[in-house]
Amino acid sequence: EETVNKIAAGEVIERPASVVKELVENSIDAGAHKVLIEVRDGGKSFIKVTDDGSGIDPDDLPLAFQKHTTSKISGAQDLETIGTLGFRGEALASIASVSEAVEVRTKTRDALSGSYLRIENGKVAETKEVGSPVGTSIVVWNLFSNVPARRKHLKGREAKLVHIIDVITELAIIHYDIAFELFSGSRTHFKSARSNSWDDILSRIFGLKAVAGMAPLQASGRGWRIEGMIGDAFNLRASPDRIFIFVNGRAVSSRPMAGALREAYRNIIPPGKSPIAVLSLEISPDLVDVNVHPAKREIRLLHENEICSAVTQEAALTLSSYAK
Ligand code: ADP
Ligand code: MG
Repeated sequence: EETVNKIAAGEVIERPASVVKELVENSIDAGAHKVLIEVRDGGKSFIKVTDDGSGIDPDDLPLAFQKHTTSKISGAQDLETIGTLGFRGEALASIASVSEAVEVRTKTRDALSGSYLRIENGKVAETKEVGSPVGTSIVVWNLFSNVPARRKHLKGREAKLVHIIDVITELAIIHYDIAFELFSGSRTHFKSARSNSWDDILSRIFGLKAVAGMAPLQASGRGWRIEGMIGDAFNLRASPDRIFIFVNGRAVSSRPMAGALREAYRNIIPPGKSPIAVLSLEISPDLVDVNVHPAKREIRLLHENEICSAVTQEAALTLSSYAK
């Protein structure tokens, strides 16, 4: 059964960036205003996520590491309408089963003291009361140390830090009212402050100059609505791609939507360059075919053609208004 758990966990937890994503999404679900992420060795040996969210009740703490004990979901039909980022109740259990040790320090507003829980190789090793500010701090030690097949897949450390930065960048853009900070090797690799608009958050992430040339984009149809910001031709970037697409608040990769955007730039973009753009699609759940596999980012939109041609059209309009 342990092996089965590890195999299933490996599907959710592919690499250190997946752990960071799951932990940070839990912080977001807990209503955090500030999330601090600290990693060593690209996250391989150490990942720590600290938030100022609701904290976990001492009685619930061991349950948080058991599969499917999450209270966020009552039936399969809720899957599509669920408002929080987590819904399967297996991230923490999976992370604990594929790492050497997991430590949690947490305190709710009402609790007199904080609680500490240490899990080693998937089993509770220690619990005690500790001093703690309100919120939660989770440390993951030596990811995949007990899963040799996975460990072999962990390649160069720089590459992995980039994956972590990408995950945090996406979360920071769509949750711009939360401040994120990433530390590695005693350096800050990402820092955002609580913002009240995309203008604000994007200028903090990409610089004022990049955002000065950005304009809002809006489009809508029956059951869907897009809000976005797209950059002018002076803000073309070399890869990595700076097109961020969100569907109902989750970062996705949508080749068709990214392609629709590039189409609008087609005559003004030199080869090898890419626009900087954010598109956030809110769409009725019955119009999107969500692949509920948590590691997959691909989605299928039922009215893809309608949405994509609206994106091209609105982006082209925005771009032509720059020309004036
Ligand atoms: P899910 O997010 O799908 O519910 P997880 O395994 O990610 O499942 O987390 C299990 C539970 O642990 C959550 O439902 C939540 O109650 C609690 N939890 C985890 N992380 C935090 C956190 N940072 N702050 C508050 N509660 C948390
Ligand atoms: Mg979760």
